[in-house]
Amino acid sequence: MNPLEVSALAGELAALVGRENVIPAKDARVQYANDQWWYAIAAAAADQPVSRPDVAVRPQTTEQVAAVLRFANLYGIPLTAWGGGSGVQGAANADRGGIILDLKGMQGVRHLDARSLTCTVEAGIACRDFEAWLNPQGYSFTHYPASAEWATVGGSIAARGSGVLSGKYGKIEEHVLSVEWVLPTGEIVNTPNVPRHAAGPELTQLLVGAEGTLGVITAATVKLHLLPKRRAFVVCAFESLSDGIEAGRIIMTTGLKPPVMRLYDHHAASHSLARAVETPLEHPTFVMMFDGEYPELVEMEAQIAARICREHGGRELSGRIGEVWWDRRYVFYYPPYAPELPSIWGTIDTVADFAHIEAVYHETTRAIHAACPPEYNLSLTTHFSHWYEWGSMIYARMKVPVGPSHLAEAKALHDAIFKAGVEASLRAGAVINDHHGVGIRLAPYMQAQYGDAGMDAMRRIKLALDPSGICAPGKLGL
Ligand SMILES: Cc1cc2nc3c(=O)[nH]c(=O)nc-3n(C[C@H](O)[C@H](O)[C@H](O)COP(=O)(O)OP(=O)(O)OC[C@H]3O[C@@H](n4cnc5c(N)ncnc54)[C@H](O)[C@@H]3O)c2cc1C
Repeated sequence: MNPLEVSALAGELAALVGRENVIPAKDARVQYANDQWWYAIAAAAADQPVSRPDVAVRPQTTEQVAAVLRFANLYGIPLTAWGGGSGVQGAANADRGGIILDLKGMQGVRHLDARSLTCTVEAGIACRDFEAWLNPQGYSFTHYPASAEWATVGGSIAARGSGVLSGKYGKIEEHVLSVEWVLPTGEIVNTPNVPRHAAGPELTQLLVGAEGTLGVITAATVKLHLLPKRRAFVVCAFESLSDGIEAGRIIMTTGLKPPVMRLYDHHAASHSLARAVETPLEHPTFVMMFDGEYPELVEMEAQIAARICREHGGRELSGRIGEVWWDRRYVFYYPPYAPELPSIWGTIDTVADFAHIEAVYHETTRAIHAACPPEYNLSLTTHFSHWYEWGSMIYARMKVPVGPSHLAEAKALHDAIFKAGVEASLRAGAVINDHHGVGIRLAPYMQAQYGDAGMDAMRRIKLALDPSGICAPGKLGL
């Protein structure tokens, strides 16, 4: 797009959303220079940003979002939705220029249904702000990502996110009942207001994980829960990771409902967990939390889980460690725990059924170490942070303390480590991502994940809904 067209673009959009809601290219390229993907941060710092929007808009209403999409569709301008910009896969970056559509102009709570325990909320509200609004009334969204202060409700749905309470309350796909959705061509769709129906396929779920490629979510009706009256923690150390995985499998497949289930391998336990809970830890360590309305039930679930752990070689540690973990659960993700440039960092979070998860852990760990030359002192800490009735996931967090100073070389090292980890996990039977989405970072692996026919099916859906290909082109490998 030439400079003349860029200036025309801002003027045209001002007529649709108001001049005060248009951010011209110069400022947009600073404000939306990167999401939280390591490479987007490193590239922006090196003045070679991945994200190069020609303009950003912050619409205040669904009708304004629809008008912007109609406009972008008419002129074939790429459009990227932006929630909190907290994604770690590069999905929110405007790598093909065009318009950033920032949802933070839409943060209202539209309706709370205290009888059904549901709430309709606009997409741009941050999860933490939504929770802060609900808690004094005795309710909880129960979607607690570590990025809650940035991550929006819409971004969580679009990236198929997960919070620390997922073991009982589910990933975001279990929280969302329906969405208000603006199609790439500007029409507004409201999906059925309950998700369990037989009125055709579940359209709401088509939007979950679509990362803005099929249009924009402007509002969602989500499930609420009562704030729990009781929380009980179980913390156990295991001689072997294998025993911990088996204890977790039994807990999840016999009807217990722990919101928190985190099994740290011995590296993660001794490095990050031990620092966070201020207790020396050497062995693989499980942190679990049970909660609910009925204290007796909560205590009983915790006691049964502790017994299962003991029966599988677990040594019970003080529940106080769990309480400290709960209070400090987000510190892992912020300085001084969170890495900064000139480090290279990132997570490989893959998910598998119980038949494959242990092999996924070992193969991925081996491949990541093998891919990084020893002089870079790679550290890898892994925990199994979300558990399901059929399996679990690994959250393998890698860090190279000081990467090559040249951006292209640093990227080559990052990409080699990442490729080795993702391909090893795929070979061992995992799905390439559990809850961070695909974005730019995982797009090259979608073909291996879905095969030719699977990718073709997704491309056809995309083409039918977005005939001009304006919405997040290239993301998800589409
Ligand atoms: C420190 C840290 C901790 C994190 N912890 C977690 C965690 O515990 N759990 C977890 O799931 N993730 C976590 N993440 C990743 C990130 O927070 C999530 O991916 C989150 O869901 C992104 O939300 P966002 O609003 O910031 O979306 P963005 O990063 O702004 O966007 C993500 C994607 O969604 C699209 N999008 C955003 N809003 C909309 C919309 N309204 N309609 C359509 N498409 C939209 C964007 O175009 C992009 O493709 C973490 C990230 C960081 C930096």
